[in-house]
Amino acid sequence: MAIEQDASRTEQEERKVLVARNATTGEMIGELPVADEEAVLAAVTRARAAQLAWATLSFQQRGVYLQRFRDIMLDRADAIARIISREVGKPQIESMMSEIIAGADFINYYVKHAEKMLADEPIPLHLLKHRKSYLHYVPLGVIGIISPWNFPFILALSEVITALIVGNTVVLKPSELTPLSGQIIIDMFARAGLPQDVVQIVHGDGKTGAALVKSGVDKICFTGGGATARHIMRAAADTLTPIVFELGGKDPMIVCADADVERAAQAAVWGSFLNCGQVCASVERVYVHREIAEPFIARVVELTKKLRVGNATGNADVDVGSLVHERQVQIIERQVNDAVEKGAHVAAGGKRPEKLVGPFYEPTVLTHVSHAMAAMREETFGPLLPIMVVEDDEEAIRLANDSVFGLDAYVFSTDSAHADRVARRIEAGTVMINDVIASYMAPETPWGGIKQSGIGRVHGGALGLKEFCQVRHVMGERVRLPLKRELWWYPYHQSQVPLFKGIFKLLFGRGKKK
Ligand code: NAD
Repeated sequence: MAIEQDASRTEQEERKVLVARNATTGEMIGELPVADEEAVLAAVTRARAAQLAWATLSFQQRGVYLQRFRDIMLDRADAIARIISREVGKPQIESMMSEIIAGADFINYYVKHAEKMLADEPIPLHLLKHRKSYLHYVPLGVIGIISPWNFPFILALSEVITALIVGNTVVLKPSELTPLSGQIIIDMFARAGLPQDVVQIVHGDGKTGAALVKSGVDKICFTGGGATARHIMRAAADTLTPIVFELGGKDPMIVCADADVERAAQAAVWGSFLNCGQVCASVERVYVHREIAEPFIARVVELTKKLRVGNATGNADVDVGSLVHERQVQIIERQVNDAVEKGAHVAAGGKRPEKLVGPFYEPTVLTHVSHAMAAMREETFGPLLPIMVVEDDEEAIRLANDSVFGLDAYVFSTDSAHADRVARRIEAGTVMINDVIASYMAPETPWGGIKQSGIGRVHGGALGLKEFCQVRHVMGERVRLPLKRELWWYPYHQSQVPLFKGIFKLLFGRGKKK
């Protein structure tokens, strides 16, 4: 836990501060004030006051602020990537690729399309033909965004963008492990001249997050683990605050007998060890068909052993950095030990690297695994790639679906029709064919899980925008009938019964004498 008392201050001045650290070296890199419950409430009150004026701006006017933010972000890309990399321990190229470029693209996409996507939607009526109905969308108000540490910039920014463009204001609570990556978002919005209090930040650990949940915000958008989600759902029940949850996964990859072995092996290694495996959509388990298992496993092991592991927060050429925290290393150690005790073979890695100091673990490949092992059932969120050999598609699909999670899944086959048939039977929010993780980069497509991987969707074009809107329905008149009252209004009379029976017959063909 990174919250510490600031000893350099006198007792009256003493306040709780959040210390930001380099994940790999532990070096202190910043200090931020912790928001207590009172400070969170004050931020939400200010956000509510700012929301009316923000919502009255046009989409185009709001978009101008987002575009200014984008330009500032791109000018400062190096500095931002450095901060993210130091807080998470990941290579800067990963921060550039998956956090900054994605952020710029999401802004371009939503600024261009949001207004059209939220245009009024007519609803064709099949029965009440004299009426007309339509939906219209209005911002919810104040959105509380609670974000994790693994992609600390984009997983905060992308939700901020979608909430703002539709006219909401935002209070953001970044992870206590990566507060600077959240703070730079707020600083850049200030530079972009965003009106005061439209986006605010509250720093702290779970207590600050819990205060935000019960603060009376109009929706909580939470990305994080299932245990925290359960706390949030219970707390949100008191105020009936709506939630959208983006949670963990145990994403399966199915390598069919007709897969391109080289591409599948490359994808498995990158998909499993990107960001040191700390990706909700990581390849967390592989099911490979017996026919190609041998060359596939050999190539995965070969590629894994070539990965350069080291301190990625400096300038060295490194493929895989450290984990974010010692506790992540302990989860992997526990899962590897459990698997080995139950008969798994370590084909690569399997321990902390000898020469590295910090929360490191070698990229690890396990074979001879089974669903009796935690490594195949619990989210690892680390550099662990267990591979299981299967006899056919049926077995692979059954095992892939044998999970409480359902975020992403991956199918490798050179026959598109075959791949589609397998993909459609997998219980997951997204299934990618012959690729891994990258669907996140397409804001047109929905991001979110089924089962214990989440509730609701972000991105997905209009779908993600509508998560931050109230949907309202208006039913009006297409044709005004010259009636002073409807047939079913008062007063009721027995003589109406045959009339209604006649209507049933006309509409549903029921009640006819045979
Ligand atoms: P976490 O649940 O520990 O923390 C997430 C956030 O919740 C942090 O900001 C934390 O301070 C806050 N929090 C903690 N307790 C809280 C409470 N009682 N009330 C309100 N807020 C509280 O998760 P993490 O360790 O930061 O992230 C890792 C998890 O996130 C993994 O399970 C991963 O799969 C998941 N994740 C999911 C997605 C997705 O898009 N589905 C993306 C990234 C990460």
